[in-house]
Amino acid sequence: MEINSTLLHGYEVFGKYTGSSSIPIYQCSTFAQKSLEEHPEYMYSRFGNPTRHALEEGVAAVEGGRHAYAFGSGMAAISACLLLFGKGDHVVLCKSIYGGTFQLAEEIMKRFGIDTTFVDETDLHAWESAIRPNTKALYLETPSNPLLNVTDIRGVVAVAKRHGLLTIADNTFMTPLFQRPLDMGVDLVIESATKFFNGHSDVVAGMVITNDDDLAEQIYLQQKAIGGILGPQDSWLIMRGMKTMGLRMEQSARSALQIAEVLEKNKAVKALHYPGLPSHPGYELHRSQATCGGAVLSFELKDRDTVNRFAKALHLPILAVSLGGVESILSFPAAMSHACMSPEERAEQGVTDGLLRLSVGVENTEDLIDDLTRALNSL
Ligand SMILES: *Cc1c(COP(=O)(O)O)cnc(C)c1O
Repeated sequence: MEINSTLLHGYEVFGKYTGSSSIPIYQCSTFAQKSLEEHPEYMYSRFGNPTRHALEEGVAAVEGGRHAYAFGSGMAAISACLLLFGKGDHVVLCKSIYGGTFQLAEEIMKRFGIDTTFVDETDLHAWESAIRPNTKALYLETPSNPLLNVTDIRGVVAVAKRHGLLTIADNTFMTPLFQRPLDMGVDLVIESATKFFNGHSDVVAGMVITNDDDLAEQIYLQQKAIGGILGPQDSWLIMRGMKTMGLRMEQSARSALQIAEVLEKNKAVKALHYPGLPSHPGYELHRSQATCGGAVLSFELKDRDTVNRFAKALHLPILAVSLGGVESILSFPAAMSHACMSPEERAEQGVTDGLLRLSVGVENTEDLIDDLTRALNSL
């Protein structure tokens, strides 16, 4: 089945008992048992809930995995993966990384005695030379946030396999619609379902997907024992969003490419980062592991004052944190996603005060291009 059909038919989409055209929202914490001896499928919603299970089956089907687990946020999903490790362990992560993941590594994992090293994700030798005897996993995110650096997924997996390590990939920017890390040998895939999976900027949620039965058991234990589960209502909303994910992402990615082409030629834009453009240094590599450049791009204006004036002049994109919504979202990483880093750490990652990230929504492409061009030309 092609992915757009899987989104609608590849899992339990209809209510089992009545045939309802969407899975009911089982808004309950507990389930009445018929007798003391019974071992019912559902006992308590932290251990399992039918609405959440339907979502988990659906995401597993779409991601091409055997198991998926839904969490109360992308960060809860990331924590479930990174807290699989313990005192004395070491994890290698990409340097250009989601701000929250950086904070988790620096402020929480350290407290548990888990050591981390951040490497230049575009350099396979850097990944390999960071490996120590106590290294347990390689953690990547591609394209990266917000500079859209491309990491060689197959290359990192090969390094990990040579050293007997796990590979973990945050696939939020591409989703399985554009990039399929499990098929490339990644062990654990993370999705912030807050973004494209849900697509409507009205839920915070995260997923972990795997093909490995042992890892699945460990992630389930994290979900159950740490307890960062996704509620039934939000699970239902993500399923509702998934039904149009194919249409939304196709439209957004098509617009993003056209916008990138226009912005790249504008004199006010000092640099433009979009892995779907041949001018991007990771273009060929990205093309070998993803089907298109995606719906997110970033670009650099002169300075913070110019950024302010540009944002004020825009009519369509909302100025906000987050991405992957039906509405275009303009973010200012230095003060938003990367605010928890020191200015030095931001500089190290190339997150300057002139950098903006645009998540392209499903508005009319020409309207978006007109709005952006008019705002740039007014600077
Ligand atoms: C948003 C995001 C996260 C965190 O997800 P939340 O749902 O906000 O907790 C992690 N990784 C990436 C790449 C993201 O964009």
